[in-house]
Amino acid sequence: MRETPWIGEDIEAMKSLTCEEAVREFFAYLDRALAGEPLEALQQHLDQCLDCCDRLQFSRKLDVFVKERLEEAPLPEGFEERIRRALGD
Ligand SMILES: [Zn+2]
Repeated sequence: MRETPWIGEDIEAMKSLTCEEAVREFFAYLDRALAGEPLEALQQHLDQCLDCCDRLQFSRKLDVFVKERLEEAPLPEGFEERIRRALGD
C-alpha cells in the first residue's frame, strides 16, 4: 500500500482557518448549522489547535446553559394537544 502524499497537502490547504475564523464558526457548529467544507475546516483546526478546543468547550457549556434557560419558556411537547383533547376538540 502506497501513501498518497497529495491528500496530506490537501488537508494542509484546508486548515487555513485562523483562530479568529474558527471561533466565529463555533455557534453555527454548536447549532449543527455547519456542514461540508466549513465544518471540515473547523474540525481540522480543532484537531490542531488546543486553544480553540478549550474555547469550544467553554462555548459548548455556554450554549447548553443558554438553551436550557430558553427552553423553560416554551410549552412542553404535546402540551397544547393535551389541552385540546381535554377540551374535547
Ligand atoms: Zn485556534
